Amino acid sequence: MIKLLGIPFDGNSSYLHGPGQAPGRIRQMEAEGSANTFAENGQDIRSGVAYQDRGNIVFEDLSPAAVYQTIKRNVREEIADGSKLLCLGGDHSVSFPIIEAHAEKYQPLHVLHIDAHPDLYENFEGNLYSHASPFARLMETGKIASLTQVGIRTFNTHQREQAKRYGVKVIEMKDFNFDFIAGLQTPLYLSFDIDALDPACAPGVSHHEPGGLSTRQVLHIIQSIPNLIGADIVEYNPVRDVNNMTAMVGYKLMKEVMGRF
Ligand code: MN
Ligand code: MN
Repeated sequence: MIKLLGIPFDGNSSYLHGPGQAPGRIRQMEAEGSANTFAENGQDIRSGVAYQDRGNIVFEDLSPAAVYQTIKRNVREEIADGSKLLCLGGDHSVSFPIIEAHAEKYQPLHVLHIDAHPDLYENFEGNLYSHASPFARLMETGKIASLTQVGIRTFNTHQREQAKRYGVKVIEMKDFNFDFIAGLQTPLYLSFDIDALDPACAPGVSHHEPGGLSTRQVLHIIQSIPNLIGADIVEYNPVRDVNNMTAMVGYKLMKEVMGRF
């Protein structure tokens, strides 16, 4: 079974809030009917038919440590029966518990992370759960067999050292081509930060980082990588969006990812 789960949490964002509203806005793109429900491979990705919408996680305790536990428990339950899960964030901090839950079910787990930012800070502004640190936390667990980062264009000295320390394979945006796809191993999990896209393609993000991927390049990656066991799409910020343009990008990616499950 394919499932969709919304994680409406942006409390670990360092700069702006808004991604907490993303799951509802992306779902709205299917409900409004401006686009049809087909992925480009011909599959009809319709709610209640191709996938089961499990709604949004409800948080009772919004402290970062409690949120981490709540997300991990919910994801563990959703994938226990072998279902493939697409999570809609939320800020990127949600990916730490999501991917850790997958790594406890699938071993060895390989992760493809597409983002403008490496999100590898050892400690960002005193919050270990910050959306700037999920991949540092994940690599510390020792549960990830390989991490490949694509689209990165914001390395500072600290994060470059962190990438080296954790053996991360990085395809920086300045060197981008599609050759990395041939080297990806399975089972594969995809974590997609919308700000990997050029701001011209996706203005509805908290951190505009020029010089990014085109929507078509991302679609090519999704359509070419090995079959996925799980994925998340994070950091869409409806507050910064223009006429739901980026919501529609999120919806398009959602259909294409589910078409690869
Ligand atoms: Mn990110
Ligand atoms: Mn980012």
